[in-house]
Amino acid sequence: MGKWIDSSGTEYKTLKEMCEAHGISVLTVQNRRRNGWTLTEAVEHGLCSGGRKDKVKDHLGNEYSSVASMCKAYGIGRSTFENRIKRGHWTLEKALTTPLLSKLVCNGREYRSRRDMCVKMNISLDTVNQRLKRGMSIEDAVSVPIKKVSKECVDHTGGTFKSLREMAKFYKISCNTIIDRLNKGWDMEKTLTTLPKEISCECTGLNGEAFVSVRKMCEHYGIKRSKFENRTRYGWNTKNALRIPCEFSLRKIPVDYRSMSISYVTCSSNGEPFFKVKCNVCGEEDVLSYDEINEHADKCEGR
Ligand SMILES: [Zn+2]
Repeated sequence: MGKWIDSSGTEYKTLKEMCEAHGISVLTVQNRRRNGWTLTEAVEHGLCSGGRKDKVKDHLGNEYSSVASMCKAYGIGRSTFENRIKRGHWTLEKALTTPLLSKLVCNGREYRSRRDMCVKMNISLDTVNQRLKRGMSIEDAVSVPIKKVSKECVDHTGGTFKSLREMAKFYKISCNTIIDRLNKGWDMEKTLTTLPKEISCECTGLNGEAFVSVRKMCEHYGIKRSKFENRTRYGWNTKNALRIPCEFSLRKIPVDYRSMSISYVTCSSNGEPFFKVKCNVCGEEDVLSYDEINEHADKCEGR
């Protein structure tokens, strides 16, 4: 018996027993043996610094003062090397000599790109990107289960949803937006009820009401947002752009009324008529209701 003997002369019944005593995996030893290491070297050389021997040998038998200097000699990152050996179970030779295609190494395997890795691991690229942005390591980013998506979610009103996806769908925003906002420290209500693209937009309605967005304001006044924006672009003031119904169209009726020249009138089916007018006194042009025309004329005729 006593087939396995280490440098101190201690005998072991099996290789496994000897490896265990030296705190090294059988696989690593077998890899090293395949690469021409002696049994003693294979079992007793530490993998990283802090191992039993300071000196390490590469697959060709060249000696280095440390793993780090060996890696440097092969132009390979030490963490890449260690990942390859420990997690990918690569041989020493392969771990040292396989060039990096890109910097992306995960669990000892290399990928052309983050996308390539996600496809091969069957995980969403968005999820991985988000996690990396939050400072997770690449290994964690691909291996931590997607808790948030499958866990029951509770909104600000106490309503429960089967998943984040369900809640996001209900509030018509994306899961990523929700996660992003919560990470930014938003509270749940603001997170769920603020629609995208209206975060910094505040609008004032006809009676001074505040709206979080143009869209909300237009909804309130029953006017299409596109219509409102078109009108504004053509120089309408907010008041008219909001209050004059969408089906509004102008009919030419050139007529003078008091101090005002009226050029067009609406033929809206609902609501009061509006007139496009120009004041002959102050030169102001506007779209006004009948009452407003009189008001304006009162003001200007008295001058
Ligand atoms: Zn005037």
